[in-house]
Amino acid sequence: MLGEIIAVGDELTSGRTLNTNSFYAAGHLFAAGHEIIAMATVRDTPAEIGAALKRAIDRADFVIVTGGLGPTSDDLTNEAVSRALGLPTTFYPEVLGRIKSQRAHRPDQKSRDLEKLAWLPEGAEILKPETSIAGYLLVHHEKPVFFLPGIPHQMKELLADKVIPRLALWKGGFVHCVRQKIFKTFGITETEINRKLKHLENRDQNVRIGYYPVFPDVHLSLTVIDADLKKVEQLFQQYVAEIHTLLADSIFGVDEETMADVVGRLLSGQGKTLAVAESCSGGLVAHKITKVAGSSQYFLGGVVAYHNEFKRKFLGVENELLQKHGAVSGPTAQAMAAGIRGLAKADIGIAVTGIAGPTGGSVEKPVGTVFFGLASHGNTRDFRFAFAGDRWQIQELSAQTALELVRRLLLDKLIANNEKEGRH
Ligand code: AMP
Ligand code: MG
Repeated sequence: MLGEIIAVGDELTSGRTLNTNSFYAAGHLFAAGHEIIAMATVRDTPAEIGAALKRAIDRADFVIVTGGLGPTSDDLTNEAVSRALGLPTTFYPEVLGRIKSQRAHRPDQKSRDLEKLAWLPEGAEILKPETSIAGYLLVHHEKPVFFLPGIPHQMKELLADKVIPRLALWKGGFVHCVRQKIFKTFGITETEINRKLKHLENRDQNVRIGYYPVFPDVHLSLTVIDADLKKVEQLFQQYVAEIHTLLADSIFGVDEETMADVVGRLLSGQGKTLAVAESCSGGLVAHKITKVAGSSQYFLGGVVAYHNEFKRKFLGVENELLQKHGAVSGPTAQAMAAGIRGLAKADIGIAVTGIAGPTGGSVEKPVGTVFFGLASHGNTRDFRFAFAGDRWQIQELSAQTALELVRRLLLDKLIANNEKEGRH
């Protein structure tokens, strides 16, 4: 369905509080298959709230309003709703009863203030009677309009427990059916992706493709919207297949998957283990891998070998080799990868050594030069990349590239070029 979110509060429009509610709600609604067409943020005045509400009901299938439901006189959402939709307010004695019993330990709170919480627009259906501020549902012109408290944890609870399940079962009125998917790519630029998919963009007016650089990845979103569920499903499957064909192994994952999730899944599936040797990434590869629950199944461990002496002592990188080629070199990367693979008795060893900057670059090896060593059964190789960016970006790109190389090795899709341009 198509939705609109309205966040209400002077603290939001004055810049004192960050509007995290809309951000959170949109993300979760998106994941549940809804498309948010607009987000409005308005102050606590009935005129603004009313105007935003009418506009939203006009153009969306459902509306979510957060904030302005509290006991203090500055919270005016209920009053605004009554005025805008021409509904009288009604006293809900059971709401007041519950609030009073919950706050029995706080006799300081005047019962007149609390009473305000129990005057709601006529027809309001209380979403969760046991909560302290009544979130409610109003159905206007057959469209559901949800009113949720502004306090983030209360809003989140009602959204997850009541709003999303109710929307999933919503049958009344005309609704749009929406299917969405996020494709995650790495190592290919936004414009390259755009070029490959350009011909798909204007083929069907109910299909939208969006490109979003989400460092260090580039995400692509596919959205199909139509009133006819069957048509949506058919177009969606068709486009998903076409995008996979066009971008092939540039897509490392979809929706919530991270690169480390995917590498973990491949390693588990093939019954293989991994160990890492890191220099310029300073442990970031190991950190990304171990963020995934259950990674102990395939990740044996890693060494952060920053100093040459450490590379020699723990990974067996020979002095001669370090003298001849330098710490940032293909042969050193290979030796590090083979070293950690042997030390850990892993199936795959991956190593990272490079110049994260801002100092330490040279003409032959400028800042951003990073070598990767990849050691697997009977084969050790190295890859040279040229990344651009600040120190943090180069480290992020290095860690993600290390995982990408492992992914490609496991898929048997390694690209054999010896120098790749970084994109940032
Ligand atoms: P209210 O329900 O309007 O009384 O809001 C209660 C408190 O929740 C406010 O004082 C803010 O701290 C917080 N809040 C309200 N709206 C939002 C929002 N959109 N995002 C984050 N916090 C919010
Ligand atoms: Mg408020």
